[in-house]
Amino acid sequence: MSDEIRRRVLIADDDPVMNRMLQATLQKMGHEVIVCLNGEMAWQHLTAPDAPPMAILDWGLPDMDGIELCCRLRQREDAPYVYIVLLTARGERDDLIKGLEAGADDYLIKPCDLEELKVRVRAGQRILDLQSKLLMAQAALQEQATHDALTGIWNRGAVLEMLHRELDRARRDQQPVGVIMADVDHFKSINDNFGHQAGDVVLRDVAQRIKTCLRAYDAVGRYGGEEFLMVLPKCMASTAVEIAERIRANMASHPVKTEAATIPATMSLGVVASIVESEINEQQLIGAADAALYKAKQSGRNRVIMAEG
Ligand code: GH3
Ligand code: MG
Ligand code: MG
Repeated sequence: MSDEIRRRVLIADDDPVMNRMLQATLQKMGHEVIVCLNGEMAWQHLTAPDAPPMAILDWGLPDMDGIELCCRLRQREDAPYVYIVLLTARGERDDLIKGLEAGADDYLIKPCDLEELKVRVRAGQRILDLQSKLLMAQAALQEQATHDALTGIWNRGAVLEMLHRELDRARRDQQPVGVIMADVDHFKSINDNFGHQAGDVVLRDVAQRIKTCLRAYDAVGRYGGEEFLMVLPKCMASTAVEIAERIRANMASHPVKTEAATIPATMSLGVVASIVESEINEQQLIGAADAALYKAKQSGRNRVIMAEG
C-alpha cells in the first residue's frame, strides 16, 4: 500500500459540524480525509481499489447505519482490512458490545474529546502499520518458497504444482497440456572453463531467454541444476515443438555475455503433450519429456525432440 493511501482516513457522519471538527483534527495529524455524509457514499469509498485503511463511522447514519456498514465490510473475503472506529452518542454498554461484535475495532462516544480521538487514531495506525509489515513479510516468504533464488523463476516445487493444476484443468476442459524439459549442453565444461560464477550468469540468462520465448500464460521453473521445466496450458504437440524450437534457436543464435567472457551455450529440449482422452499423470509426462531430452542429447545436442506416441 502506498504511503499516500496509508494516511487516508474516511469519516462518515450526517452532522456537518461534527465532520468539520473531525476533519480539521485529522488533517492536523497529517491525514488525508475523505468526508461522507451517508452510509452508501462511505461504502463506495471503502470498497474502491484505493480505499482508505481507516474509517470513523457514525452509529446513526441516515441510510445505512455504522453497524450495518461494519457487518458488510467484515463479510468481504480477501479484501484489505479497514480499521473501524464507531462514533456513538450512546454510552450504553450493550450498544458498545453490539458495535464491537459487528466488527468495529474501537469506539468513541460523542461529544467527542479531540485528544481521545487523536490517541485512538494513532493506536489504530499502529495496528495497521503492524498488519502491513506482516503482510509484506508473508509476501516475501511466499516469494521465497516458490521461486528459485538464482534465476528468479519458479522453483521445482512450484512448477510441479502448476503442472498438477494444469493437468486437472485440462481434463475438465478437454484441452492438451504441453511439457518441455530443457537442459544446457555441456554445462559442466562451461563451469570448468569459465568458473562457477560465470556459469551462474549463464543460468540466469537462459531463464530470461526462455521467458521471452513463452506465451504469457506458460510457466517455467528450474527443475534441477541446469534443467528447466516448462508447462504450456492449452498447447498441442506441434505448438509445443514450435516453442521449444524458438528457445533452442534463441540460445544458439547468440552467446551469453558475462563480465569475464562471452560464452556460447546451447540447449537440448524434450517435448511432450498430453492427449485429451488419456489419463496420463504428471510423472508420466515428465518421464516422457525426459526420455525425449535424453534422445536429443544422444543425437548430438542443440536440438528439439518430440516424445514418441
Ligand atoms: P549434458 O550436455 O549432457 O547435459 O552435459 P552437462 O555438462 O551439462 O551435464 P552434467 O549433468 O554433467 O553437468 C551439469 C553441471 O551443472 C554440474 C553442476 O556442477 C552444474 N551446476 C548445477 N547447479 C549449478 C548452479 O547453480 N550453478 C552453476 N554454476 N553450476 C551448476
Ligand atoms: Mg546439461
Ligand atoms: Mg542436467
